[in-house]
Amino acid sequence: MTDDESGSSTTADVLVIGGGPAGATAAILLARAGRSVMLVDRAVFPRNKCCGDGLTTLALRELEALGFQPAMVPNWLTVDEAWLRSPSGREVCLPLPTNGIFGATAPRREFDYALLQLARDAGADVREGCGVGGVTQTSAGVDVAVDGIGSVRAKFAIAADGMWSPTRKALGLAESGYLGEWQAFRQYATGVTGPAATRLYVWFEADLLPGYAWSFPLPDGRVNLGFGVLRDGVRTGKSMNAEWAGLLERPHIRASLGPDAQLQDRVAAWPIPGGIDRATLGAGRVLFVGDAARASDVMTGEGIGQALVTGRLAAEAILGSDVAVASRYEKSVRAHLLADHRMSKLLNGWLARPWVARGAVRVAGTSLWTRRMFARWMFEDEPRAIFLTPTRWHKNLLRRPGPFQ
Ligand SMILES: Cc1cc2nc3c(=O)[nH]c(=O)nc-3n(C[C@H](O)[C@H](O)[C@H](O)COP(=O)(O)OP(=O)(O)OC[C@H]3O[C@@H](n4cnc5c(N)ncnc54)[C@H](O)[C@@H]3O)c2cc1C
Repeated sequence: MTDDESGSSTTADVLVIGGGPAGATAAILLARAGRSVMLVDRAVFPRNKCCGDGLTTLALRELEALGFQPAMVPNWLTVDEAWLRSPSGREVCLPLPTNGIFGATAPRREFDYALLQLARDAGADVREGCGVGGVTQTSAGVDVAVDGIGSVRAKFAIAADGMWSPTRKALGLAESGYLGEWQAFRQYATGVTGPAATRLYVWFEADLLPGYAWSFPLPDGRVNLGFGVLRDGVRTGKSMNAEWAGLLERPHIRASLGPDAQLQDRVAAWPIPGGIDRATLGAGRVLFVGDAARASDVMTGEGIGQALVTGRLAAEAILGSDVAVASRYEKSVRAHLLADHRMSKLLNGWLARPWVARGAVRVAGTSLWTRRMFARWMFEDEPRAIFLTPTRWHKNLLRRPGPFQ
């Protein structure tokens, strides 16, 4: 990083705003390609992020390509099956293939720290505790006011600053009243001795559909518990807090956790933006990635895989050429994610009906083959809309070995 001639601002080829999975991925790839990259985050890592800590096959494939290793996360847990419970109480176990890692849990505090370390190792200048304030654009670059640094001038900026994206606001691109498509709650528990100590549960409760509650296992009897619901304009923060307390009292959830489970800290709540079809993806020399691009899957609320994908696509767009970067980026994001987003949106409409959720769990559990295929599809081993987009078919469709073999 250099000071410009006047000595009043720091310059970089690319300024990445936000050091979560989306920003770290972009920084890793750009720095490895020889660009000077500054990444700023207002938080100091390791930091907590309200999340289920679940990694899908999509996320794992992207991580493997980045050279990330599971051993970099002390409390990594590989998941080899998922347990679905339908609104009628039917439980189905969906086994994931064993030739590689198709699912995992990794506490975000550790996972994001490790990924950011990879960005540092690649040569990115990572500055923590540095929040971004004003953002202005000229035809030649982007000027960003950063706490503790001053003015940073870059040819391009990547806004990886999450759901509330201060960059989007600073550029006057925020949609007034937008609160995300989902609202989700998360709390850790310890002392879990019931089956949830090792099983990944997804509970389709009739009153949450098309949302769901989950328990994702972590090492040493810890679990990540939570629930997510589509915003309906009726639920309030207060009512969802009460809903959370009620959920934890449900007999099947209590039985899964066991009698000694203890909740840790306070429940955390955060929105999930799943509206890539309506999001601003690029504006001049600024590209939006991850939650700042509303890239999460609107059916499951998972967004780490999509954050990694959009971070990579933004880096690729910048590395391609200096011309029409924003439109090239938008085009590649739409090609990668739009059909899947539309499929998820369509399925959400159906899953809102309890009889459909019951039927889906029943069909998924028909045979070992259906259980295996459903597990692969659910964990995004292939894109959601793969069967409707023949251009993405390949000869190992639903047969690919997993990452990290
Ligand atoms: C309860 C819940 C459960 C979830 N469970 C899962 C799950 O199990 N699996 C999954 O795949 N996804 C899950 N998600 C979604 C997932 O957490 C997000 O999609 C993902 O974190 C998006 O990554 P990101 O890098 O875009 O943003 P973030 O991880 O939010 O990172 C944004 C970064 O920007 C920084 N920042 C913000 N403002 C500024 C500023 N002014 N200046 C500088 N830096 C700034 C923040 O400090 C932060 O580090 C869940 C979400 C919620 C709310």
